[in-house]
Amino acid sequence: MNMYYKIILLVGVLVATGCAVSKNPLRQQVKLLQEGIIKDDTSYVYALPYEEGKTFRVLQGYFTGFTHRERAALDFNMKRGTKITAARDGVVVRAKEDGTLGGLNKKYRSHGNNIVIQHADNSRAGYWHLQHNGALVNVGDSVKKGQVIAISGKTGFAFVPHLHFLVWTSKDGQWQQVATRFQTSKGIKYLRGWKKYRHSPSE
Ligand SMILES: [Zn+2]
Repeated sequence: MNMYYKIILLVGVLVATGCAVSKNPLRQQVKLLQEGIIKDDTSYVYALPYEEGKTFRVLQGYFTGFTHRERAALDFNMKRGTKITAARDGVVVRAKEDGTLGGLNKKYRSHGNNIVIQHADNSRAGYWHLQHNGALVNVGDSVKKGQVIAISGKTGFAFVPHLHFLVWTSKDGQWQQVATRFQTSKGIKYLRGWKKYRHSPSE
């Protein structure tokens, strides 16, 4: 499938599913945070999960699009082989890199290579669809924000090569996906679908 066909198909999928929005109550909250109607000055500010100076587009944002209707997750559109960096300091609690297959079919889900990093406040960040052998850290490693931890790919349930990034917090023993703030070249933001964000150093 050539690139243009992929893009046309992707836009079609996004348009076709744009109306099917989540009923998750968090969705409305995220929208208000994105629009600045609810202010949040206390939560942790994550780094964009790629190298300084790089710009990538968010394909699917929080609770929108095709596979994120029920997910507080972000898809960064990036070609295979892109360096992925830690969005926050932590310890690696999961690293899978033996998956080889990927595509737009749930049967590929178990192939999705990924890294999960636990932070000091017990929240966790996940980095998905890494290329085969694309995990550059091991379980138990301490990583620093900005450190290169993985190489992107398209393993698992993935239509195009991208990085699926998400953060969970634990509430009463239940893991919940949450939206987080990021440092961008235009200030601290809750990211939105279909927008591009440049990783620039925080002042
Ligand atoms: Zn995703």
